[in-house]
Amino acid sequence: MALDLDKRAITYLSGVGPKKAEVLQKEASIVSYEDLLYYFPYKYMDRSRFYHVSEITSNMPYIQLKGKILSFEQLGEGRTKRLIGKFSDGSGTIDLVWFKGLNFVLSKLKINEEYIVFGKPSEFGRAYNMVHPDVDPIKEAEQIASGLTPFYNTTEKMKRAFLNSRAIQNLQYTLLCNLNWQIPETLPAYLVDKIHLMPLPDAIRNIHFPSDITSLRNAQLRLKFDELFFIQLKMLRSANQRSKLLQGIVFTKVGDYFNTFYKEYLPFDLTNAQKRVVREIRSDMKSGKQMNRLLQGDVGSGKTLVGLLSMLLALDNHCQACMMAPTEILAAQHYSTIKAFLKDMDVEVALLTGSTKKRDRDKILPRIANGEIQIVIGTHALIEDTVIFSSLGLAIIDEQHRFGVAQRSKLWKKNPQIVPHMLVMTATPIPRTLAMTLYGDLDVSVIDELPPGRKPIKTIHLYDNNKSELFVFLRNEIRKGRQVYVVYPLIEGSEKLDYKSLEDGFEIFQEAFSEYKVCMVHGKMKTSEKDSAMQQFVSGEAQILLATTVIEVGVNVPNASVMVIESAERFGLSQLHQLRGRVGRGAEQSYCILVSSYKLSAETRKRLGIMVDSNNGFEIAEADLRLRGQGDLEGTRQSGEGLDLKIANLASDGQILQFARDIAAEVLDCDPDLLSESNRILNERLKILYENKLNWGLIS
Ligand code: ADP
Ligand code: MG
Repeated sequence: MALDLDKRAITYLSGVGPKKAEVLQKEASIVSYEDLLYYFPYKYMDRSRFYHVSEITSNMPYIQLKGKILSFEQLGEGRTKRLIGKFSDGSGTIDLVWFKGLNFVLSKLKINEEYIVFGKPSEFGRAYNMVHPDVDPIKEAEQIASGLTPFYNTTEKMKRAFLNSRAIQNLQYTLLCNLNWQIPETLPAYLVDKIHLMPLPDAIRNIHFPSDITSLRNAQLRLKFDELFFIQLKMLRSANQRSKLLQGIVFTKVGDYFNTFYKEYLPFDLTNAQKRVVREIRSDMKSGKQMNRLLQGDVGSGKTLVGLLSMLLALDNHCQACMMAPTEILAAQHYSTIKAFLKDMDVEVALLTGSTKKRDRDKILPRIANGEIQIVIGTHALIEDTVIFSSLGLAIIDEQHRFGVAQRSKLWKKNPQIVPHMLVMTATPIPRTLAMTLYGDLDVSVIDELPPGRKPIKTIHLYDNNKSELFVFLRNEIRKGRQVYVVYPLIEGSEKLDYKSLEDGFEIFQEAFSEYKVCMVHGKMKTSEKDSAMQQFVSGEAQILLATTVIEVGVNVPNASVMVIESAERFGLSQLHQLRGRVGRGAEQSYCILVSSYKLSAETRKRLGIMVDSNNGFEIAEADLRLRGQGDLEGTRQSGEGLDLKIANLASDGQILQFARDIAAEVLDCDPDLLSESNRILNERLKILYENKLNWGLIS
């Protein structure tokens, strides 16, 4: 049944003129019939019970009444002009009030006919009224709302164009009637049978017009499955295709570089988790397929070292390797770490960033091109066209969430003969469900163990009216020889104020700690100024470093054991955890002090509480997902790969997701390119979901 619902424009629906169509598109991205059908309610209300007017009390939720309008009366002028309908159900009367669309109401509603009225009663003087209620003739109401009433998200602009929740419901009704309540299946019959879920036409009907709570749940389940299934199908299929298309460089041997370093120069034992991950990487690299691996590990878990060992494997197989970091500070730090690790070995390492001087660059580039330089550490300067490798075998990206897919693929192209192996490292633990959805095409390794001997960081929550207590504590730590970070938020849109509070803070700290050196870094400083301030702190000359979140990623100062986070309520959980990871690297007891105002929302209080209670990045990421929802997670937004899920919820639908992924994998096992007759429908659906959308965008 080829209805092409995705190609039928919403303007063809009766009741949708050009004006409404425009609002629907702009405000709700509804362009086609399909878009409308997939515009799902965000909640439902139970209309299974009728109330009596005499039962009405204050603070009632939405209720419904059955009765007649006895009379209409128009009152007021201009902005106070309103229409009042006296409504009675025999037990009492209540005023129905309209401020807008008076003529429309008067032409539609008749005196002394039976209606069902649905709305929220509010107290007005000594009586109750209902403003802009839904009023339905008793016959229709039974059809439309048999118990559960859907509520659709609408914006102010939609409401002004008479597209409130109720109007959307009416459009759904009109559309479904036009379609004879027949929506084409998205899954082949054999799958619908196999998964035992509600058929799609029933699911669409029940999501908009649930016949009862069980049918609603089943409809939701089916639609969540669909949503997640097609994402997984797409991811797994492209991963399959890639691994078929792309040969990987085969790294056959573990040679002198790796072995010498491992046996002679590695200053400590690898943790078991590090060992496991190195084995996983090693087996990818010799498989003949291109490695695409995501390495997740909490801050301080030792990812850099795993990266280095992988690079040495590349060198052993006569290839070059590179590591790309999101900031210059971090790239420089990796460079010096790696140089130090390799100081007694004969390996050529170079640093290439945006601020590498032209003179140096002119020397480095040819040596990368002729293969003399074996390891290149850098920022996105690495992906510029002028950087040509002679044989890039492994590209590592650190701190994934700052880079997008585009940059990943640019690195791929740095070896024109054969795609290099890719290792993406992230310290923002991503909950499993999110990883499966965002990076479902990558294999995932996890370092879930910290190197031994680390003392867990103590986290304390203080209110900002308690500065003197804070200062006493900090002075104590500094006297013991420790250093202190103080971080201020920098939030888009309020930068001016943020810089001001950073600068104010700088004065306060300088005054309070006049016997010590306090320095400051932020994004508006020149690179040279930033570097010299950082250097003062790294060298130990300065005891206190005030900063905006530029220090968030990577900086490693083992002697810094206190992290103070100002206005902690303004940071997300993942970011707080990242910042906290800057301390706790040395042998001393470390502290993270969250300073917030006293007035906090319940959610924020919970968030800070989680930080105080947990040191585990994965736990925190899960909590973040639960608290804030998937759309707003750190890392998804930054990489521009935000998820737009209409119904599934990654925080609570993990099981459905796993099920969907398993089914997708089974389907592809039998039919990798979805070419069989029975799977053609899947192929078509993928096209609708992931190709046509773009075309709509181009047309409009
Ligand atoms: P990440 O990048 O995962 O945040 P790093 O690679 O910067 O962590 O490692 C943090 C610190 O731990 C570094 O000083 C590193 O040398 C050290 N380290 C790494 N692995 C081990 C290990 N197995 N045992 C002891 N120390 C380690
Ligand atoms: Mg790191």
